[in-house]
Amino acid sequence: MTPPWLNLDHVWLPYTQMKTADLPVPVISARGVRLKLADGRELIDGIASWWTACHGYSHPHIVKSVAEQLEKMPHVMFGGLAHEPAYRLASRLAALLPGDLNHVFFSESGSVAVEVALKMAVQFWLNQGQRRTKFVGFRNGYHGDTFATMSICDPEEGMHKLFRGVLPEQFVVEIPDSAEKRMQLDHFLAQNKNEIAAVIIEPLVQGAGGMKFHDACVLGDLRALCDRHGLPLIFDEIFTGFGRTGTLFANEQAGVVPDIICLSKALTGGAVPLAATVATSEIFNAFLSDDSEAALMHGPTYMAYPLGCAAANASLDLFVSEPRIAQAAAIEAHLREELTPCRAAPGVLDVRAKGAVGVVQMDRPVDAAALRARFVEKGVWIKPFGDIIYLTPPLVIAPQDLSALTRALHEVLHGR
Ligand SMILES: *Cc1c(COP(=O)(O)O)cnc(C)c1O
Repeated sequence: MTPPWLNLDHVWLPYTQMKTADLPVPVISARGVRLKLADGRELIDGIASWWTACHGYSHPHIVKSVAEQLEKMPHVMFGGLAHEPAYRLASRLAALLPGDLNHVFFSESGSVAVEVALKMAVQFWLNQGQRRTKFVGFRNGYHGDTFATMSICDPEEGMHKLFRGVLPEQFVVEIPDSAEKRMQLDHFLAQNKNEIAAVIIEPLVQGAGGMKFHDACVLGDLRALCDRHGLPLIFDEIFTGFGRTGTLFANEQAGVVPDIICLSKALTGGAVPLAATVATSEIFNAFLSDDSEAALMHGPTYMAYPLGCAAANASLDLFVSEPRIAQAAAIEAHLREELTPCRAAPGVLDVRAKGAVGVVQMDRPVDAAALRARFVEKGVWIKPFGDIIYLTPPLVIAPQDLSALTRALHEVLHGR
């Protein structure tokens, strides 16, 4: 049953060939890990809405906090005016993040948070009289859909390969996960460092580029290489932040402090868009000057959106009052146990789990639309892409719901 408002006459869908697009699945409400559909069915959610809904949907504490803020003041401009939710959130993030990542710049989306990080890095050098225009990113990396962020995504595998030649050229290299690659990167940085503004990586799990994992020691090595060559290191924790990899932030597992960190997605528990770019004092101090032009020239209209800040403060409360990190660890063990037998299914290359990320790696690209439809028939929301079928459920998912997701995955893999 299709509701009367649902057609493709006017809405242009994300990453979708509109000529052949199926109608998307109409959702009328969402609570906990369940999406309620227009025809009354419910789906157990295995994706957490692009990894945002870490506490499940409509968590009462977040809903209440946002509603109270909405009553008081939905928004005021952040230039010249101040509101408590943003100042409180900034100090809480600074306290939670390692080292002296203490200076928080708010924006409204992940791509913009990365843009701001790149701009900070370029201007960090400009303010010291150096013009450095290139970034080092990594194979399978994904950092957003805007022009500068597209340019640091994987140019071969990434979803932006069409734009090759149009985008500014960057250095996209292999993750240094072997002694040989580490030496190659060391050599490469030594040769090119005067052109390079910063190195950027998604720590531990590269998300939208294929849910690829690397060891925490890679990040320590990368930190050492950046230090040796005097290069700022940016961690894009937009996917990995807020418990997804089993710790509040992925950097904790490596004990590495980046110079700049980008946060978004689960920052607000998935309730309201918000993002933050957080810099160390060393980066921040390079902008302090008697020259007004040395200031960071950025300021989105909806900067530090009060509803987003209220949601983010409420979300951080929940990381304290509820056992979210323990839940993420339990999900990893559960996924490992129940996904491992998938290795025997036809077409499966590999199975991996890290925190609340479970991946079934197929040996070729999947028919994503067909699989998605099969999953919906089975009462679960699982959205494969490329050559993977993955689970990134809300961290609050109950064991029996998680088992329902893995069961559906098994059945679909075996053509049942
Ligand atoms: C989703 C994502 C982005 C982009 O965030 P948007 O809010 O979609 O602009 C950037 N980096 C990473 C690692 C992401 O997962």
